[in-house]
Amino acid sequence: MAKQFDIPFDAMTAEHLAAQFGTPLYLYDEGGIRKTARELTKAFAWAKNYKNYFAVKATPTPAILSIVLEMGMGLDCSSRMELLMAQRLQVSGENIFYTSNNTPKEDFELAIQLNVTVNIDDLTQVPVFVGALQGKRLRRAAVRYNPGGLKHGNSIIGEPVEAKYGMRLDQLAEAFTLLKRQDITEFGLHTMVASNELDHEYFGETAQVLLQAVDRVEHETGLHMSFINLGGGFGVNYKPHQRPFDVQAAAAAVREVLVKNGREDLHIHTENGRYVTGPHGYLLSRVRYVMQKHKTYVGLDASMHNLMRPGMYGAYHHLTVLGKESHVHTGTYDVVGSLCENNDKFAIDRKLPTVKPGDYVVIHDSGAHGHAMGNNYNGLLRSPEVILREDGSTQLIRRGETAEDYFKNMVWPVVP
Ligand SMILES: *Cc1c(COP(=O)(O)O)cnc(C)c1O
Repeated sequence: MAKQFDIPFDAMTAEHLAAQFGTPLYLYDEGGIRKTARELTKAFAWAKNYKNYFAVKATPTPAILSIVLEMGMGLDCSSRMELLMAQRLQVSGENIFYTSNNTPKEDFELAIQLNVTVNIDDLTQVPVFVGALQGKRLRRAAVRYNPGGLKHGNSIIGEPVEAKYGMRLDQLAEAFTLLKRQDITEFGLHTMVASNELDHEYFGETAQVLLQAVDRVEHETGLHMSFINLGGGFGVNYKPHQRPFDVQAAAAAVREVLVKNGREDLHIHTENGRYVTGPHGYLLSRVRYVMQKHKTYVGLDASMHNLMRPGMYGAYHHLTVLGKESHVHTGTYDVVGSLCENNDKFAIDRKLPTVKPGDYVVIHDSGAHGHAMGNNYNGLLRSPEVILREDGSTQLIRRGETAEDYFKNMVWPVVP
């Protein structure tokens, strides 16, 4: 079944938003985020104490984080600033996972102070974590496992043997032996070996690989594992021919593996970001020029610094020319921004209706790893973020950057 690429607002609303906030802008559909969050929670309803810790890095905007928190999710932080965001949102430690890598000692100290579940990435960092702990009591701790050749990765994250994350199977016992001597109540094992994966079977296989490691660790250390964390990676069907991720089937595949191994005692956690917010964010931009060069270019007022995914790793994002949804796709365009980088292209050879300057172009599925990856290269400013509430009203949730923002941390020479 072809994806519909519905847009929860019309050309008139786009016009109003543009007049009020300027383009480009990010618009998030609150109702859509809530619906997906409900579906995810429902799929894992069989699992006792299931929690998805929303990966903050996907959409680090307080108004979005507060929605997923309201929906019963926790937060998965990967850096000090993300921990501080969670703290400012008054999220309690039990609802925070700290999955970082190459982690400085100060960050372990903050994570311990907040009593979050620390997920340790490497053997070098276990003694650093223990040092930061200073004998304090901690509720939970986890270790990140990299199954290497035991599991295939996918194209975004690559093969596990090439991935910088996680410990080898033969290193896990040493890590847990050190942790066992601490005053920690519960232990768990984490892995994340795929990103943007649409095959639900993959997550059953991931659970199986984790359970084998759990078994070995318990055998070698005498520790009892309380939980497994399957990481993020539930996919978004960005392309028209792709079927949506079957979250129900993924959860069922995980359940089947637990039952088969007789390990229904283990609590299940995930860290999905993209799946929750990705489809519900829209980058709204406006056409500046249609340019005839060796090819025909549509120049938008958005650039790669607003949405890095297409330029950075060739990701497909669907485009809709607002108000021309029913027009025949007679044109073939490269859709570009204004960065001085030739990979600043949202689409190459894309079939679209005839595009005119002033048209609004919606870039779909931009709600995760979108605004978050933005930057100021070429002196371009990051766009505002707006939320579309369930009652149809809209609200600014992050203002666009100004020249003052851009200049504020620069040290200027004193002009005599
Ligand atoms: C990026 C990341 C996630 C979230 O990935 P999604 O593709 O947004 O689901 C979760 N956990 C870890 C450790 C990550 O690095």
